[in-house]
Amino acid sequence: MARYFLKVEEGLPLVGHLAFGIVDRGTNLLQIRPTSFCPLSCVFCSVDAGPRSTRRLTEFLVDHEYLVSWFVDVAKAKGLDKAHAYIDAVGDPLTYGRIIELVRLLSSTGVAESITIETHGALLTRELVDKLADAGLTRINLSVDALDPSLARTLAGTPWFDVNRVISVAEYIASSTDIDLLIAPVWVPGVNDSEIPRIIEWALRIGAGKRVPPLGIQKYEEHKYGRKPPGVKPMKWHEFYSKLEVWEKEYGVRLRIRPEDFGIRKARALPLAFRKGEKATVSVVYWGWLKGQWLGVARNRVITIVGVPGAPPIGRKVKVRMLRTRSNIYVARLEA
Ligand code: SF4
Repeated sequence: MARYFLKVEEGLPLVGHLAFGIVDRGTNLLQIRPTSFCPLSCVFCSVDAGPRSTRRLTEFLVDHEYLVSWFVDVAKAKGLDKAHAYIDAVGDPLTYGRIIELVRLLSSTGVAESITIETHGALLTRELVDKLADAGLTRINLSVDALDPSLARTLAGTPWFDVNRVISVAEYIASSTDIDLLIAPVWVPGVNDSEIPRIIEWALRIGAGKRVPPLGIQKYEEHKYGRKPPGVKPMKWHEFYSKLEVWEKEYGVRLRIRPEDFGIRKARALPLAFRKGEKATVSVVYWGWLKGQWLGVARNRVITIVGVPGAPPIGRKVKVRMLRTRSNIYVARLEA
């Protein structure tokens, strides 16, 4: 469990970090990250989220008006009149208390071509779904990793997790709202293999995928700072795709999906503020997201300073060297 909490408001840039703000990966889709909190502790979580996190130091919460102003500015800076607004998180976006206001405000900008929320659904209710539909939500990408309640609890690493509630709300979304539904199980080999065909059948039966493919099966991957279920080895990509091909024939549905299925295309990337290897002076503003990190700011970007000892010297300027700049995510090492 994280020890610190940062409310992100005007003054702190919203590009540069994976855990909050806006992430641009050079397409017409912008990831919008309002919070890093999660109620679950999935055993395969790639970002070590939730109450059982062992690596996190700080959780983040961004002011929704400030976040939307950055969404509009980043889209403009990329030369886009419209961008897909994809609300995801290194946690679960439904923990965000202003999620309805966020969707409504995004919708009112006229810049959001679509608005999607990615979630494991633990906090979904019919009332919330109705409010999100009214606010202008286009789609929910819902990760259901097992229909079996006991296995679903085990995978979620959470004894109170009730997949039957998630199933019931998912069926409501598909049958009674305009919100599109994409079912996105994480396939953890050797753990939920037999659940995946059941999930495919269920997604097709309830009418998921009104305007997009109904399923987006995700391959479990090992991540450096993620949780790894004991004894599980990630599948090879060719094995994964050949099994999807078998199921495509069996169920008559396309499972090998592409960005174009969602209207996603390449678009000019936001220009980088630093080059890899460059030296820079950065103001330290807070503890970092993970242990051994500080948060810094320079050139209207946030920067993660890694390998640092102890408490951050908040308000001081330090010299760093950039280790990573890809996708405007900045990681730097303290220079002596
Ligand atoms: S996989 Fe998603 S829902 Fe599960 S712990 Fe990680 S962030 Fe939370």
